[in-house]
Formats: sequence, structure tokens, C-alpha cells
Amino acid sequence: MTVNLRSKMFLELKKKETLEQAKDYAFDYLNKALERSPFPSNEAIINLKNFEEPFPKSTGDSKNILEHLNRYGADATVASTGGRYFGFVNGGVLPVSIAARWLADVWDQNSALYVMSPLASKLEEVCESWLKELFGLPDRFVAGFLSGSSMAILCGIAAGRYRIFKNLGWDINTQGFYGAPEIRIVAGRQAHGAVAKAVALLGFGLDRIEWVDTDSQGRILLSELPDLDESTILILQAGHVSSGSFDDFESICAKARSAKSWVHIDGAFGLWAGASAKLKHLTKGIDGGNSFSLDAHKTLNTPYDNGIVLCDDSEALTQAMRTSGSYMVHSENRDGMAYTPEMSRRSRGIELWAAMKYLGRDGIDELVYGLHQRAVQMSEELKAFDFKIVNEVVFNQVLVICDSDIMTNEIIKNIQSSGECWAGGAIWDGKAVIRISICSWVTTEEDISRSARAFVAARSKALSA
Ligand SMILES: *Cc1c(COP(=O)(O)O)cnc(C)c1O
Repeated sequence: MTVNLRSKMFLELKKKETLEQAKDYAFDYLNKALERSPFPSNEAIINLKNFEEPFPKSTGDSKNILEHLNRYGADATVASTGGRYFGFVNGGVLPVSIAARWLADVWDQNSALYVMSPLASKLEEVCESWLKELFGLPDRFVAGFLSGSSMAILCGIAAGRYRIFKNLGWDINTQGFYGAPEIRIVAGRQAHGAVAKAVALLGFGLDRIEWVDTDSQGRILLSELPDLDESTILILQAGHVSSGSFDDFESICAKARSAKSWVHIDGAFGLWAGASAKLKHLTKGIDGGNSFSLDAHKTLNTPYDNGIVLCDDSEALTQAMRTSGSYMVHSENRDGMAYTPEMSRRSRGIELWAAMKYLGRDGIDELVYGLHQRAVQMSEELKAFDFKIVNEVVFNQVLVICDSDIMTNEIIKNIQSSGECWAGGAIWDGKAVIRISICSWVTTEEDISRSARAFVAARSKALSA
């Protein structure tokens, strides 16, 4: 690096200009996102062509670069931090966790090893302990902090795979799959796509999954559950990604326990129901699970990416994630990488800690229950406008069906182009549905009413087309 380039960057640090500039844009954005159309305008999307330029040969200017990014970038974002974005299960962001994330980004801490960041190690430890308390899990549970539920599901199943093989006298790490005893994978027919992905990545083969039939809400039918045994990994779900439904953990885990099967519970957004006094009944019996996957970036409203794996078998998880290297310095302190597939990792425990410390148990309860209340309000208002709701609104998901698939898809298109709110589609029981996820603390009663009116307008427009 030339002396000139280095001095230029030092100057930017000293004058604070670059970070100040970003801060100003950020404040502007956060306020605008509350009122703006959730999806970018056509003009904003067309303007993205301003990023199509030759790779610069020489050094640029931070001020101009940020200016460019903000001018053409901000308006082309999806305003999922606003109150009327109901697409996917995205979740908003708590101000305190954005701020903590900013600081953490400046600190640029690698949370792989304690010696790389004692702070990151300590806050992971604190989050682990608070999460166990929040969900009423025994002390033997350990947590890994990773990008999201897709990774967390992979870790949970990998830990189960390690443990089951070990119990059968086989070391999967050293002996691999060839000649190994058989492991069965049992999952509900309506499991999230990330489950199948993890199963495929771990080498079991999708065709070997024993799919269990589900009821009208996507819950595993107890009567259809095959006999379980000690070589089975059973995957359950807390929060169906469309209907929001929960498997009957109490009955199913009891069976799995007595059969000595490994139970993984995919609770990406739904597990948080266990943190609400009024919704806790949905997760009753989860303590019968061996591993859990969940996302703080969904229901808890931390920034991306903030996934968590919880596992009751520390040895199985850490053995499944084992790495070695002569330069690695392990100590008696927590080394975050021991619980995840990744080595270098940003310190996502920092913003998770900030969110949990800020909300406390009461605040988390209020946040989670509030999402449910808004979902119930949405379904009631839509029903009053003669929309048909096809799911039991047990948590934060509302599924709307119209007279025909064509009509449903037309209404989705109209909603999405209305600029009033944004909801996506899904297939439910073979038919097209509108899928509404209420996952942001920002969403108010008024946002819901305004959005319900936007549904009515979208239907009128479709009928008159
Ligand atoms: C979102 C989700 C996933 C995938 O989680 P990522 O954080 O996107 O990797 C898995 N299962 C369920 C039920 C989900 O809602």
C-alpha cells in the first residue's frame, strides 16, 4: 500500500467524516422506512444500473462512494424495517441492537477463539445462559452462534448423527459413511426446506427421509409417527413457515425419549413463543428435544444474521464441529468456533446480548405476544372484509385464500404494487394463498388496519380487471 493511500485513510478515521456521513444517511433511512412503500419503486430498480460500471482501476473517494451507495442503494432496498412489510418471516430490528451492531462492526471482532476476542467470548457465554433461562432448558445445554437456522439445523442434525453413530460404536468423523450402520431420519411432511437441505448436505440422502403425514395445519399426526428407535433422528417443528403451527412436542418427545431417538426441533421463529407466558403452551414439551435451531434475526428483531443452535449434548456438538490447527490456542474460556461449522465469525453475540439486555424477559414476552396480537387483529379485520383465513392463527402467520388461484395471485400482485403493504404467496393444501407474517416490533394496530384496507382495494382492483 502506498504511503499516500494509508495517510488518506488515516485522515478519514481522524476526521470521522466517513462514519458521520453513514450515520446521517442511516437516520434518514430509518425514519423514511416507516412511511415508504415496502417494495422499491420501478424508478429505484431502474436506477440500480448506476452500479453497473467498470471495476475502477485507481483509488476512489469515500465520500463519493457513500454518496453513490446511498443515492442509488437506499431506495432500492425492501423496507422490512417499516411496519407494513409482511413478506417471508423477516423481522424488524430493535434500535439498541442496530447500535450495538454498529459498535461491534467498528470493533471488528473475530469470535472464533477467546484469544481473538475475550469480549465476544464473554457475551456468547452470557447469551447462552440467558437463552437457557428464557426457554427453561437444563444447564447441560450449550449454544452455538451462527448465521441462521439453515446452519443451526445442520449443526443439530450433525450432533445427532455424531451421537447416534458413537452409541452404535462408529466414529463418523474418522470412519465416514461407507460401511456405517444405518441411521433413520424421520421428519414431518411439512418440514421447512432447510431441513431437507441439511439432510442432503450431511449425506443421508433425501429419498431415505421417512416423511410423516401431517394434519390440516401442517402438524405431525401422532398416529402416523413410525416406531422410533435409538438409531433415529426425528425432526420436529416449532412454527410452520406458512401456518405458524407447532408439533405436539409433549406427546412426540415422550415417544422419542423412551425410544432413545435424537430429536431436533426447528424453531426458527416459533421457538420464541416459549418466551411468552400466554403463548408458552405452544412449545410445551420442547425440553424433550436434544437440539434446537432458532433465529434472533426473526422474532427477536436483531439484525441479520443471527442464528442459534442449542444442544443438550456438548460433546456431540463440539465433536461434530471439530477442527484443529497448530496455531489454535484453546483455553478454559469459551471458544465460539467450537460450537459452529465456521471459524472466523463476526461477533453476533454482541447485538444478541444488547437485544436481550434491553428487552429483558418482560420485553421479549411483550414483543412476541404483540406479534401474535397483530396477527389475530389482521385475521379478524380480513374476515370482517369477507376474506377467508385458512390457518388457525396460533402465532404470527395468517394465510388468506381467495375464490380461485388466479384471483389469489392477482390480489397478491395488486398488494405488492400498491405500496401500502407487502405480502407474498405460498401453496397451501394445493391451492394458492396469500401469506402474511407479522414479525416486526414496529407494526402498529394502525399499520394492520391500513394493510387490511389495502387488501380490500387489491381485491376490488382484481375484480374490476
Ligand atoms: C427461516 C426458517 C428457516 C431457515 O432459517 P435461515 O435463518 O433463513 O437460515 C428454517 N426453518 C424455519 C421454520 C424458518 O422459518
